[in-house]
Amino acid sequence: MIDEIDIATERMERDLAAALEAHAARPVAQVSSDGLCIDCGWAIEPARLAALRGCTARCVRCAARFETAQRRRA
Ligand SMILES: [Zn+2]
Repeated sequence: MIDEIDIATERMERDLAAALEAHAARPVAQVSSDGLCIDCGWAIEPARLAALRGCTARCVRCAARFETAQRRRA
């Protein structure tokens, strides 16, 4: 009984590790590593970074402009 739980837990941990590895291997183009906007170079608002968990590469103004441009293109 305990062995079965151990095996299941081990398998879950291995799956999780594999999933994390796959996620890390995926190229993340739209993220700024230094917290600076990739368009204007200004610091991205800390509140914005926190809200998006760092998953943004543009400040709020450039993001709005970028999204508008994308919507126009679509
Ligand atoms: Zn910007």
